[in-house]
Amino acid sequence: MYDVIILGAGPAGLTAAIYTGRAWLKTLVLESAMIGGNAAIADNIDNYPGFPFGILGGELMENFRQQAERFGAEIRMEQVISVVNAPEGKKVVTTDNEYSTRAVIIATGARRRALTVEGESEYLGRGLSYCATCDGAFFRNSVVAVVGGGESALKEALYLADIADKVYIIHRREEFRASPISVDKIRNNSRIECKLNRIVTRIEGDSVMRAVILQDVATKEEETLKVEGLFVSIGLVADADFVEGLDITSDGYIFTDNDMRTSIKGIFAAGDIRDKRTRQIASAVGDGAQAGVAATEYLKE
Ligand SMILES: Cc1cc2nc3c(=O)[nH]c(=O)nc-3n(C[C@H](O)[C@H](O)[C@H](O)COP(=O)(O)OP(=O)(O)OC[C@H]3O[C@@H](n4cnc5c(N)ncnc54)[C@H](O)[C@@H]3O)c2cc1C
Repeated sequence: MYDVIILGAGPAGLTAAIYTGRAWLKTLVLESAMIGGNAAIADNIDNYPGFPFGILGGELMENFRQQAERFGAEIRMEQVISVVNAPEGKKVVTTDNEYSTRAVIIATGARRRALTVEGESEYLGRGLSYCATCDGAFFRNSVVAVVGGGESALKEALYLADIADKVYIIHRREEFRASPISVDKIRNNSRIECKLNRIVTRIEGDSVMRAVILQDVATKEEETLKVEGLFVSIGLVADADFVEGLDITSDGYIFTDNDMRTSIKGIFAAGDIRDKRTRQIASAVGDGAQAGVAATEYLKE
């Protein structure tokens, strides 16, 4: 029987583990893919406080891991399949085991929807990014493109227009699915050019990205767009459906209160999986700390 089981070893999950570990709670962290989560794949992290000259994502998250383990958290590489909220206690079922616990913290994050085109995985971190706030600063005075037509894609393009010389927006439709204010700002920004009714079919380059190949959705004609950076912003994917009975948004994010409590007593959520505005390492860390404290208080009750 564990006191707390934390799902996901990203910034939110590992921070929660530091807090529950320091409160002497028997803590297990379950991770399906990579310790450090999305933060570990970020090349250089420039906006996490405490590192004035930036830090590699992998290095930062290795520090998180060591700190969580120093306070007794046990980390296992197992994918969680379901969480059962039975009256006699909570059960966490993984691909390999079944665990009993008194409290659960869900910190499984959200992933950017992928384009699934040729060259995407090859140029990830070498021109291709899923986060303009994170990686935009590396493209000062460059030519970049944003794929997507929703609010966040337009916001990413506007953000990049203050950094790069030129920003293309590639969108598969004629109209954007964003607020009129954002659309207006895009249309009136001289650094932004829209490539509408086009999809990306592949990404090309050598050691770094050099171009994206676009296809006109009506004529099927192809064109080569020379860019140094491509930001994919076609939505996030959140999967919280492994917990039955949890209140979630229509796109899969978990509703919590300010103390990270979900709609089920003893189950907390932290980080990108939560319904919230900013999805960054600093905010995931804040959520993780709060979830750890709230779970500790819950277990004392
Ligand atoms: C390329 C890239 C660069 C970024 N750069 C920055 C940056 O510079 N600055 C910044 O502040 N933010 C950056 N971000 C955003 C930042 O990484 C996230 O906001 C942050 O990692 C969220 O932390 P989290 O713990 O909520 O989720 P995640 O980091 O996503 O961690 C969740 C973890 O849960 C695991 N998991 C998922 N499902 C299961 C399951 N069923 N069972 C077990 N484990 C599971 C996942 O494998 C993952 O390891 C970047 C993101 C990306 C993708």
